[in-house]
Amino acid sequence: MRIAVIGGGIAGLSAAHELLRRGADPVVFEARPRAGGKVGTRIERGYLSEDGPNFLARPLDALLDASELRDDVVTPQPPMTRWIHLDGRVLRAPGLSLLARAGVGRALLEPLFAKPLRDDMPLGDFLERRLGRRAGGLAAAVMSAGVYAGDPAALSARDAFPSLGALARKGSLIVNAFRRPKGSRSGIWTLRRGLGALAEALALALGGRVHLGAGVGRLSPGQGGWSVQGERFDGVVLAVPAAAAADLTHGFAPKFAHAARQLRSAPVTVVHLGLRQGAVPRGFGMIDADGTLHAVGTLLPSSMLPGRAPDGRALVTAICGGARHPERAALPDGELVSAVMADLRATWGVRDTPGYVRVVRWDAAIPQYAPGHRDRIREARELLAGLPRLELAGAAWDGVGVPDVALSGAAAAARLVP
Ligand SMILES: Cc1cc2nc3c(=O)[nH]c(=O)nc-3n(C[C@H](O)[C@H](O)[C@H](O)COP(=O)(O)OP(=O)(O)OC[C@H]3O[C@@H](n4cnc5c(N)ncnc54)[C@H](O)[C@@H]3O)c2cc1C
Repeated sequence: MRIAVIGGGIAGLSAAHELLRRGADPVVFEARPRAGGKVGTRIERGYLSEDGPNFLARPLDALLDASELRDDVVTPQPPMTRWIHLDGRVLRAPGLSLLARAGVGRALLEPLFAKPLRDDMPLGDFLERRLGRRAGGLAAAVMSAGVYAGDPAALSARDAFPSLGALARKGSLIVNAFRRPKGSRSGIWTLRRGLGALAEALALALGGRVHLGAGVGRLSPGQGGWSVQGERFDGVVLAVPAAAAADLTHGFAPKFAHAARQLRSAPVTVVHLGLRQGAVPRGFGMIDADGTLHAVGTLLPSSMLPGRAPDGRALVTAICGGARHPERAALPDGELVSAVMADLRATWGVRDTPGYVRVVRWDAAIPQYAPGHRDRIREARELLAGLPRLELAGAAWDGVGVPDVALSGAAAAARLVP
């Protein structure tokens, strides 16, 4: 069966590998000159910096096997100190002053306030009800910034954080959050040469089946199949962001296209800075719970990982903008770099001039799952029923993390070729 996979991000690459494993004949169409989508790495002047994700939170066994990169997996090395910017101060997590400011006393009374997770509740409301205004507000700010560069008042507790509902059903969120499920392998990881190596290896393994610089402008159903760029296919995996899915479908599925256009994403601009090693703290990084810094999250990759900066230098990665302050992501490069440097000076006391700067812009970086997301996506998929074989995959629909989109791609392949 010939299947067109539109979009060569991790969702599309994963779908293509699974289709191949199932004996189908996939062809990937990717608009950009390289595969990987948000996943990409640049190595220059001794710095290794990521376009998008830095760490993955769950194993990716099938893709590591397909890319033969198992031996390249690296995990961050201590110190893994995390800081939270709260009330204009930089506090170590989970240090005592943070716990005091967070109102942890009320949070420990959580079981008395435990209410079920209503379907359509924003994350901020849910956690504030369970943990109290201070601790709940802080937890919601940290979770939404850390995963979505998002707004706790606009993200769904149930659909943006599926594990939260499961924890809440078991009783106390705080107690259950610290319990690791039996047999689980947890811990974040990346690859020695950056996550871009995964995308490159997956594309390479697909050989001539990946067409780069091949943006699909028109998709049309006909004769029990699809026409893509003038070629006939038996089925399609649409592994593109929601706006691109809307553009490609409005001619034959206008209701679906309308639903896809309602899905929102937040813009993010990533600022990589090469600084003097001694000027920068060692640790994991900082999350801004106040919403007052230009970066929602700042990582210290060279403190944790080998080969991220030349000797004597440090790489600092600031993830700027997001749903609460999209205007910060839109600042011109020079202004944003100066603003991030001013924030680094005010928070960590960094006094230096960057010797290396790289800015990566994503207008629609991370989908923002609003309350009711899961139901909207189910309804949207139903609007495609009756068409020839067509499956959706990727971050717009089934989870935004790289492991989620990989699963989403593989699941789309399995539905097409059971
Ligand atoms: C700054 C940032 C940091 C992140 N950090 C993390 C992290 O630490 N951990 C984590 O797990 N996740 C993280 N994410 C999220 C994760 O990287 C993405 O959600 C995921 O990579 C999306 O994969 P995808 O395949 O669904 O979509 P994409 O990567 O967006 O791929 C879609 C592809 O479709 C192509 N395309 C679009 N239209 C067409 C067309 N008409 N024809 C052909 N091709 C088309 C695009 O060029 C693109 O390559 C981060 C994201 C960003 C932006």
